[in-house]
Amino acid sequence: MTIAKQLEPEVKPLKKTKVKAKSVLEQFNTAADHIGLNPNIRKILSITNNEIIVHFPVKMDNGEVEIFTGYRVQHNNALGPYKGGLRYHPTVDIDAARALAMWMTWKSSLAGLPFGGGKGGIQIDPSKYSITELERITRRFTYALGDNIGPAHDIPAPDVNTSAQTMAWMADTYMSTRSPAARSMNQHVVTGKPVDSGGLEGRDRATGYGVYLSIKFWAEKNNINLENKTYIVQGFGNVGYWTSWFLEKEGAKLIGVQDAFATLHNENGIKIDDLSNYSLANKNSIAQFPDANQIEMQDFFGLECDILIPAALGNQITEDNAHIIKTGFIAEGANGPIDTEGERILVERGISIIPDILCNSGGVVASYFEWLQNRNGEIWQMDEIMGKLDKKLKQSFDKVYEYSQDKNVDMRTAAYAIAIQRIEKAYIQRGIFP
Ligand code: GLU
Repeated sequence: MTIAKQLEPEVKPLKKTKVKAKSVLEQFNTAADHIGLNPNIRKILSITNNEIIVHFPVKMDNGEVEIFTGYRVQHNNALGPYKGGLRYHPTVDIDAARALAMWMTWKSSLAGLPFGGGKGGIQIDPSKYSITELERITRRFTYALGDNIGPAHDIPAPDVNTSAQTMAWMADTYMSTRSPAARSMNQHVVTGKPVDSGGLEGRDRATGYGVYLSIKFWAEKNNINLENKTYIVQGFGNVGYWTSWFLEKEGAKLIGVQDAFATLHNENGIKIDDLSNYSLANKNSIAQFPDANQIEMQDFFGLECDILIPAALGNQITEDNAHIIKTGFIAEGANGPIDTEGERILVERGISIIPDILCNSGGVVASYFEWLQNRNGEIWQMDEIMGKLDKKLKQSFDKVYEYSQDKNVDMRTAAYAIAIQRIEKAYIQRGIFP
């Protein structure tokens, strides 16, 4: 392979699922107009603070060297260190990282955390690499990021196609490349680690638990009992699985599910652990699961249900399919699953949406607990953690719900308004240096 060829990214971004900074800015500007945001602060928040692009070589199993491109966008740190995940996916590029970093700023602010927002990743399809290659890619990416990450500066976490294992490699690489005295005290450079490597009990289920709680809180406000309510889930990864697991415990019924390979339908309900065991045994694919009918991919959003949970990638609900959706209520497990035009159609149709920055914030709230646990040299217990998570998410949900009722705006505008006002206050109190 020639050097020029190696420098070209191998995989082209997929247009449809790629999230765009433009969409986040549209959401931001709608809320900024609504609250009459200070124009100087609007300027600051409309742009990212730092954008880091690293190119780094990795030796493949066959002895060849491949060059990878990694991204880390640091949007804003007015409230604390940059915080947010790293994803390994063909749709990752600088603009997608900008969009996702901005969402993290709003998410952390809304949750009342002492964090700002960042996001990044590598534009790869990880299924094309062996586990040993993924380890070397992750370690070399961490090394390339160098001091652009750090427990008091920018704290990555898992996201699409990255896991506790990815975080363990990152933490180990980061700590191994510091001076001996600093080595053991830097575990909290990343969150979402395995429990035995400083991770938090329950961090694996925290995002799905938060999505489930958002649905439960919404149902309580609307006097709805979740028992026997039907729901469909797009994505059966960490978020889709855990959300479904908690909803099943509540008596709700999964009647449709879609992953990258197949779409399943069963009016009588699909058993979550049966589906999960099947998927684990079949290369993480739900295709050909025996206890459901396999239907066409494009028919998924048209399935009639009480709750729709997009928990996969961005831009799934657009003007092309928003009109076929047959539900009254959407809970956004993914980041940015509905684009601007799709949202306009859904809102006009009177469909309620719990926005991503509220609905999937359980993950970053648990990350905050993990960061605190490591920083203080503590080990927290599961029941204590879940109780704290519940309390924190309830506070955020109530704030957003009440704001939306009082001001007669949708929940996304309400969530943004609360998130942005907190940052606005911090800027006004501190002023702009110098
Ligand atoms: N990747 C998750 C998110 O999008 C978690 C981020 C974190 O824990 O920092 O919210």
